[in-house]
Amino acid sequence: MKKHKSDPSSWGDATKLVRGGLDRSGHGETSEALYLNSGFVYDEPETAERRFSGEDSGYVYGRYGNPTVSMFEERLALLEGAESCYGLASGMAAVFGALACQLRAGDHLVSSKALFGSCYQIVTSILPRFGIRTTLVDGSDLKAWKEAITADTKCVFLETPSNPTLEVIDLEAVCSIAKAKGANVVVDNIFATPILQRPLSYGADVIVYSGTKHMDGQGRVLGGAIMSTRAFKDELLKPFLRHTGPSISPFNAWVLLKGLETLKLRVEAQSHAAQQIAEVLSATRGVSRVIYPHLDSHPQAALSRKQMRLGGTMVTFEVEGGKAKAFDVLRHLGIIDISNNLGDAKSLMTHPASTTHRNIGAEARAMMGISDGMLRLSVGLEDTDDLIADLTQALAA
Ligand SMILES: *Cc1c(COP(=O)(O)O)cnc(C)c1O
Repeated sequence: MKKHKSDPSSWGDATKLVRGGLDRSGHGETSEALYLNSGFVYDEPETAERRFSGEDSGYVYGRYGNPTVSMFEERLALLEGAESCYGLASGMAAVFGALACQLRAGDHLVSSKALFGSCYQIVTSILPRFGIRTTLVDGSDLKAWKEAITADTKCVFLETPSNPTLEVIDLEAVCSIAKAKGANVVVDNIFATPILQRPLSYGADVIVYSGTKHMDGQGRVLGGAIMSTRAFKDELLKPFLRHTGPSISPFNAWVLLKGLETLKLRVEAQSHAAQQIAEVLSATRGVSRVIYPHLDSHPQAALSRKQMRLGGTMVTFEVEGGKAKAFDVLRHLGIIDISNNLGDAKSLMTHPASTTHRNIGAEARAMMGISDGMLRLSVGLEDTDDLIADLTQALAA
């Protein structure tokens, strides 16, 4: 044990990511220990009784908690500046849990319409099956938010920047509209990551993450997390999630802990490369539109510069020639892989209309502005010059 303890909340992000939540066992291991067990044993029956009554805060069962998972949760909460974090099996378990734990039949939910495919299914199809009324709005239209959020709105959900159209929503304005009506704001901050954007500082109540994306960042495991106040975790999340079972595996939490150590380095490097690539694509023949939050041509460029430290790791663009040309570009890539994953060290490109946003149908795609010639690039850690050369030759082919 160290004699001189410094206060972790005063650390910078890089220190928090490397050392936050570290809970060494008596063996003094350097790296975080992986506790790959599902159950726990007790010396005495009274100990078990006290654990179950809550008098003793020790572990009881893997579905309720695990020491490796706790380290992951504490590291993330510390980084985000949140009172608490709940680690989960995937980003979608986090999105669904954050919404379902607080909604009941008859409640009203308002959501931005530019959403990741599975988030769109939860909002428009799964939650309504349980009697929850939902209204979709154009996220960039503050008047639409004002009209849709009423006194009986329980919850607001939004994604900024959105997948794949990189639409940016004014967090401060939407949170203040929601607050005035007493609604909870849940933000999917997966594209921005906690490195570039802190929705809590603009008044959001709950933040959801997919650990699968930038936190792992090396294509290995699924994971997710919900950041909230301690009261939200204790009163709403725990009763809902402990009994419905979307727990993260300790192994996955351990991989994510190691991923977090390099999160800042990776996200910053990938964002700088993405900015450069977006600029090059903007001047490339055959590319009719480039969407990148920090490009002057982005409709909310000033807002994105205000609420995001860098423009992010994703670049979306449209090619002239629709689906046929988009597929042609994908076929000609020599380094960048065709994949629907994102946030990875490897650069990945997807055609949203035929993959991630296929199931929502042509009408919903048109409403979200997802065209057949649209391609979404997740910029990795390769040399930027190699990526630019690969894109240039694939577009010219
Ligand atoms: C990937 C993603 C999710 C879901 O995360 P999983 O870990 O795949 O379940 C949710 N929202 C957005 C914006 C995403 O990109």
